[in-house]
Amino acid sequence: MGASELLKNVTTATVGHWINGRAVNEGGASQDVFNPATGAVARQVLLGGTDEVAAAVAAAKAAAPAWADTPPLRRARVLNKFLALMNEHRDTLAALITAEHGKVFSDAQGEVTRGIEIVEFSCGIPQLLKGDFSDQASTGIDNWTLRQPLGVVAGITPFNFPCMVPCWMFPVALACGNPFILKPSERDPSASLFIADLLRQAGLPDGVFNVVQGGKAAVDALLEHPDVKAVSFVGSTPIAQYIYETGARHGKRVQALGGAKNHLVVMPDADIEQAVDALIGAAYGSAGERCMAISVAVLVGEVADRIIPKLAERAKALKVKNGMEPDAEMGPIVTRQALERIEGYIATGVEEGATLVVDGRNFSVPEHEAGFFTGGTLFDQVTPDMRIYKEEIFGPVLACVRVKDFAEAVALVNAHEFGNGVACFTSDGHVAREFGRRVEVGMVGINVPIPVPMAWQGFGGWKKSLFGDMHAYGEEGVRFYTRQKSIMQRWPASIGKGAEFVMPTSK
Ligand code: NAD
Repeated sequence: MGASELLKNVTTATVGHWINGRAVNEGGASQDVFNPATGAVARQVLLGGTDEVAAAVAAAKAAAPAWADTPPLRRARVLNKFLALMNEHRDTLAALITAEHGKVFSDAQGEVTRGIEIVEFSCGIPQLLKGDFSDQASTGIDNWTLRQPLGVVAGITPFNFPCMVPCWMFPVALACGNPFILKPSERDPSASLFIADLLRQAGLPDGVFNVVQGGKAAVDALLEHPDVKAVSFVGSTPIAQYIYETGARHGKRVQALGGAKNHLVVMPDADIEQAVDALIGAAYGSAGERCMAISVAVLVGEVADRIIPKLAERAKALKVKNGMEPDAEMGPIVTRQALERIEGYIATGVEEGATLVVDGRNFSVPEHEAGFFTGGTLFDQVTPDMRIYKEEIFGPVLACVRVKDFAEAVALVNAHEFGNGVACFTSDGHVAREFGRRVEVGMVGINVPIPVPMAWQGFGGWKKSLFGDMHAYGEEGVRFYTRQKSIMQRWPASIGKGAEFVMPTSK
């Protein structure tokens, strides 16, 4: 089925909010949403602020007590119905993502599948909400713990995964008994409303899931609202830090996942063809607009001279097209602004003295001349002092750094301010083990270029890639969206006579 068929009756001229179980399509300012493959304005998105956030929080707060009291298994059953609907409509969601983000359709299908996995995980959350019980903590006294929901929680998400990243948050939050407010990226907002409607169809009570569209004004209103108890954020590092600090100042629990500069180390004993495949897919897939994209190849010893010609050949041959074309390998960049930023970095790399092996600039796709396209770019002889090494470019630009040995490779990775993902390609088990243990990065792949953890493991980087203590989803996600209560209990028959003035101890 083509995009137009899949998206029939799905997209609207205006993407509005979703408050208390209903679409809100009017009020306030709006901004353009583009189809990046054509460069044309496809629709408008409303920009919410204090009023819309106040309405969403009020709806969520009103829905909170009943949702928290709903037995976890019954909450999970709603998610189970939602899971079936997500599977049924997977291709429509994927087409919506391609239409607004630009990534190729099969990649968008993969994104939806990884989101669905968190819903599957969340259907089993009753198991993780069980408390611990200590029988006879003291004579006649038992002590146990409960995990209870926090109340209204919010999620602020980036443009690059408009379905998967919200799914890192809301299924877990809802399963734990919290109403949720999503503030999606204003660049590709339609998936959020499609998800809201599927949740309605699954039987989620009104007010338990809400969407407020917009940018900074909506975010600030959520951060400042006293009834929002926790905020999950995924996006760039400066905003992650701002969210963490502002949220904490307003007394909220915050997890804020930031940007990345992910390295892939190629050891001389690696299978070179496998390493080339891995680098090409991980650097140029989704046009490099993934927080787990590989943007630095660390080439150890003589491996550089063998691998660079192969990388160059493959980067030049990338099939860069409208993401709905069946053979497309890379789609357009999300916006013209982002495209200009990426191409600006390429110019900077040249000025800084890196060797431009493949130049993706001035790339044009026939019949899509106004689309936001750039080709794959490859730099060699990049050094750690260059901006193209230090900063996140978030585009299809691969920087190759040459190092003499394994120790230098690990030291290079560890000295970088980001610590999201990293990979090492080697056929030596000892090197692999040492790498896993010594590298200061949150998510590590051994011969796996994009090691995104499974739904039950939890996702999160180190250093400037994560502000906060708990990773997204998995058991850490359950802990983030609940608070522990400890109850100590005895019955009158076990209570002795007289007041006790000493600190109670186990008797
Ligand atoms: P972004 O930081 O520009 O935006 C993220 C969210 O913050 C959006 O909802 C946006 O509306 C909001 N926002 C933007 N500016 C704001 C401001 N000044 N004040 C308050 N809110 C603001 O990020 P993006 O461009 O949408 O996404 C790309 C970034 O996200 C990259 O840096 C990428 O590495 C990162 N990312 C990280 C992860 C991870 O797991 N660590 C995952 C995906 C993306």
